[in-house]
Amino acid sequence: MRLFGTNGVRGVVNEDLTVDLAVKLGKAIGLYFNGKVAIASDTRNSGSMIKSAVASGMMSSGADVVDIGVTPTPSLQYFVGTHDDVKGGVMITASHNPPQFNGIKCVGPTGRELIRCEEEKIEEFYATDIKCKSWDSVGTISYDGSATESYVNAVVEHVDSKAIRKAGLTVVIDCVNGASCGSAPLLLSKLGVRAIALNTTPQGVPEHLSEPTEDNLKDLMEKTRSSNANIGVAHDGDADRAVFIDNLGKFVSGDKSLSIMSKHVLSKKRGLVVTPVSSSSMVEDVVKQAGGTIMYTAVGSPTVAKAMLDHNAVFGGEENGGLIFPEHQLCRDGAMTVAKMLECIAKEGPLSEQVSKLPEYHVEKRKIDCPNDCKCGLLDHLSSFSKGARTDLTDGLKMIYDDGWVLVRPSGTEPKFRIYSESKIKEVAVKRADDTERIATEYMRSTFARP
Ligand code: MG
Repeated sequence: MRLFGTNGVRGVVNEDLTVDLAVKLGKAIGLYFNGKVAIASDTRNSGSMIKSAVASGMMSSGADVVDIGVTPTPSLQYFVGTHDDVKGGVMITASHNPPQFNGIKCVGPTGRELIRCEEEKIEEFYATDIKCKSWDSVGTISYDGSATESYVNAVVEHVDSKAIRKAGLTVVIDCVNGASCGSAPLLLSKLGVRAIALNTTPQGVPEHLSEPTEDNLKDLMEKTRSSNANIGVAHDGDADRAVFIDNLGKFVSGDKSLSIMSKHVLSKKRGLVVTPVSSSSMVEDVVKQAGGTIMYTAVGSPTVAKAMLDHNAVFGGEENGGLIFPEHQLCRDGAMTVAKMLECIAKEGPLSEQVSKLPEYHVEKRKIDCPNDCKCGLLDHLSSFSKGARTDLTDGLKMIYDDGWVLVRPSGTEPKFRIYSESKIKEVAVKRADDTERIATEYMRSTFARP
């Protein structure tokens, strides 16, 4: 039985993600880690309910639980990785999804997200009738409020804070009422940056949708421009990601920040950069230009982090603003991304100038509805249209042409299919996205029209 998607178990609370499921999954997680487990949540209304249910389940199977409160996902990961007596962690978050969603994500003893085969073991336990421990062997719960500050201190230690302080930077930060409400202002104050903070009240329904897209960040863009700030920053709900606005108030896509950061990292240490097949060719161009090498993986930060570990990479990340700095920890890390970007600006100049030096690509992204049980059929159908292209099956189907590529892949978190089309020529990218979307939509229509 598959429960975990690309980013944990996600669903609408009390519809897909119920207390019953959370208790049962908690039992399975407790059994899997077989020791003390840390648990944290973001600011969703259902956070306490789901967290309590998972914690109860874990304690019933004998695990001791340490509740570290509301804190970013990478802060939970840092806590687990730096406490030898903690064998694993559980984060209650649905990241950027709307407020009716929540989710359960597990991290292993080093703080790294579990990979698929590890999640499968939890699913196997979940599918069995787990016997609860006797009354005198159930686990206990304790509380620790130190995680956020320890995490922020560790981030500060991993950047040139003197250079950042000396640059006298102004930053507009949007915490989207989520898990970064405590950590982000604290980080900026420790780095000696003048911070203008937006949406810093922790609340279950954020002031705007927590997916850090250009459409959702109009206020941040305006505020960054009008206050002459050096940079604007937005986190997603659980602050494992950070997205930037440049000093002119322009949205910087995740591909661009990934490229700029690759160059910055490689300027100090040459080596391998790992990124999923969905990232822009811009990243590969910049990495090669900076003397590094690139490796592509399937989409999903656990996969990127595992490849970075296996191949001793110097940097890695996704095109959604989830960047991984192995010198700190092998996970997407919102606060570390902000601190490193500030270091980069302090040393290498305004963000808008760095963006202007990047190679230009046009990316078209589309999403189409596709129930989970139709995803394989649709992928097969689309593969019959890959004539004239080199194909890559690392994740979904990537059709690579001389002047660009198209990637079609089933979403790991939603009943949707994602289409990415990239080329240096805008019309080519748009036409290939249009064609692929039309073929997919016609297939879905004909599938559902069948009696
Ligand atoms: Mg997230």
